[in-house]
Amino acid sequence: MLQSILSNLSIILLTHLIIQSLKNYKKRLPNKLYILLLVITFSTSVISMFYLPIEFEGYRVDLRMIPLIFLAYFGNWRLTLPVLLIVSVWRGLLGGVGTTPGILFGMICPTLLTLAVYKNNKFSNSYLDKIVLLTACWFISDIPIVFIVPNGLTIFKSIFILRYTSLIGAASVLYYFVLMERKQCNLNNQLEFIAWHDSLTKLLNRNKFFEIVEENRKATNENHYLAMVDLDYFKNLNDTYGHVAGDQILSEIGSIFKNYENDYVKVGRYGGEEFIIYQGHTNFEQAVRYIDAIQQEIRTTPFYIDENLTTYVTVSIGIAELKKDITLQEAVKRADQNLYIAKQKGRDQIEASEVHTKRISTTVGAE
Ligand code: GH3
Ligand code: MG
Ligand code: MG
Repeated sequence: MLQSILSNLSIILLTHLIIQSLKNYKKRLPNKLYILLLVITFSTSVISMFYLPIEFEGYRVDLRMIPLIFLAYFGNWRLTLPVLLIVSVWRGLLGGVGTTPGILFGMICPTLLTLAVYKNNKFSNSYLDKIVLLTACWFISDIPIVFIVPNGLTIFKSIFILRYTSLIGAASVLYYFVLMERKQCNLNNQLEFIAWHDSLTKLLNRNKFFEIVEENRKATNENHYLAMVDLDYFKNLNDTYGHVAGDQILSEIGSIFKNYENDYVKVGRYGGEEFIIYQGHTNFEQAVRYIDAIQQEIRTTPFYIDENLTTYVTVSIGIAELKKDITLQEAVKRADQNLYIAKQKGRDQIEASEVHTKRISTTVGAE
């Protein structure tokens, strides 16, 4: 009997391992294939337990309820219902004594109860609430033994301790592994964020920004543009209000840039008070218009130094086309040259003259 419990537990843990591996490949798999693989994995896990029953006093049970409850708890009804349908049909086709109660009370009711309770946030997230839910599922699954099986009460009494403890034990072991994995996953996400972003502005750092730009550039043949942005007279601002106020302004400007990011627009902190904007899937006029809107928003945003004092900041911007025949560094250099021209022209300007081969100066936002 212990062997059967352990074999059920190994199936549960193996299922957990497969799900984790699938999650690692999630980004590389089409969403529908990912869902299909999850459904197959959970269904196979439950079905294989039909063939490894635990014998209690001549009565056969198994831990099939565990993967179903966990799926309902951590997943959603779209994933849970197909699995429930597949395993119910499979169990129905196997036939034999106790088919209907096995399907109804052993699988459908506990799973739907978990879905109903957790998806409606009826329970808090405490460990005790989970034990209560699991106990309710066990009760629903095993109490019919008393009424359906001849001599049911005697069987129920003789099996209930081992049955209940094996369910709670298996669920606790699995829950521990799921929690550990989630913790690890959160840590990885945090590390990834730190590695890819600038801590003050929360924008992409230079390395990640250029990596994304190169990827986008390779992915399509369309036009791409870079814009170098530099805050005007920012040293004065630091000298007047202090570096803490300067940091706060940089952080708020980071938030403004973030609002303009989308699939085709990415912003990075190039360094200090310099930022770099990438635009793909656009044309020259649209690219300049977008940059103009960003510049305008920064120009008109009041930055609060303290309750009684606000200040305004302007930026100078140089735009360059990321042409096919030039390197990324070359395009950055051209944008930087235009930024220098914008500064020379009196700041608070957009300069895009390098974009045109005829070197036509396109100055937007000058006052
Ligand atoms: P310009 O219009 O010519 O760009 O003038 P500027 O004063 O902005 O240019 P300059 O290069 O002389 O000074 C840039 C200043 O940006 C110097 C530095 O104190 C400030 N700065 C750079 N990084 C940070 C930062 O992370 N926090 C704060 N508070 N200031 C920064
Ligand atoms: Mg600068
Ligand atoms: Mg500056």
